[in-house]
Amino acid sequence: MSSFGSLLQVSSFSALRQANPRVAFAVLSCIPCLVSVSYVVVLMLIPTRLQNQWLIDPDKKPSASELRRWSLWLLPNIFMPILGYLLYTEKIMRWGDEPGAVANGSDGFGWWDLLMAWLQVQLQEITYYFLHRAQHTNKTFYKVHKMHHTVRTPRALSFAYLGVIDTHFNFLVTFAWPLAFWYCTPFGKLHVYANTVVWTWNLVAGAETHSGFWRAPITDLTFLPVDFVLGKPCFDHSPAHYYHHKYNLGTYGHWMDFIFGTDTEYTQWRRERGCQDITRQSMVRDLLPFILPLPSLETGRGGTIGNVGSKGAKTE
Ligand SMILES: [Zn+2]
Ligand SMILES: [Zn+2]
Repeated sequence: MSSFGSLLQVSSFSALRQANPRVAFAVLSCIPCLVSVSYVVVLMLIPTRLQNQWLIDPDKKPSASELRRWSLWLLPNIFMPILGYLLYTEKIMRWGDEPGAVANGSDGFGWWDLLMAWLQVQLQEITYYFLHRAQHTNKTFYKVHKMHHTVRTPRALSFAYLGVIDTHFNFLVTFAWPLAFWYCTPFGKLHVYANTVVWTWNLVAGAETHSGFWRAPITDLTFLPVDFVLGKPCFDHSPAHYYHHKYNLGTYGHWMDFIFGTDTEYTQWRRERGCQDITRQSMVRDLLPFILPLPSLETGRGGTIGNVGSKGAKTE
């Protein structure tokens, strides 16, 4: 049995898996939902003193009615479609039940599956970049997406504030397409545990890139290898998405923006505020005060990122 397998495998769950894989898959699918909702609660309940220290724009607060509206959309948008989607895609996952695996108690989950999970996130990033870009350049697509952009002061609670069509479109295009890719490759299907990791990441990353904080630690670390190779300002995922909500411009995804040059307004916005460009050295240096950005003499609040202005929105 692999070391990951021994960590994850519970004998009763193993029995359930063999008796009814679909129900077992549904049980696994609850993990991302529960973890992400808990993470949202934690991010929203951070004491005000710390929030003011970590927020990009501490003077701006979402109204009570916004918070109410976001919470109403959080539960249906996380639980219903995602659970349904995960159940639906169970057939194109790998259960580790290749010949001999279950018989000897192995779930066949190992390092390669974790690497596949990371690659799945990168494939999603490529796919979502093009989808999201189309949502901002095509009038019909934008109609579907614009509800999300009524959020001008994002918080973790607002990450699932998407229209019904927008939500399902994301699932079908962004997440199912990379899964179909794995399905067709000689590497084989994505392991269901890897899928659980990916979905936990998707929802947690969504919450923290909408947190309004300078740092999105889990997201930043996940993209660090790609950002480091590019050595360009792709490292600050939370401020980049904050900018996207504030001005409704540029920064459609993460590192894909740098590749396609759609981060120019964002880069300009940083420079206008005296922020240093992000380099490989600053990425490594910022890993230490990763969660608690320390004030920097160079740029003021937030390490090398710098302060955010309070210009009004340029577009709808
Ligand atoms: Zn957008
Ligand atoms: Zn957003």
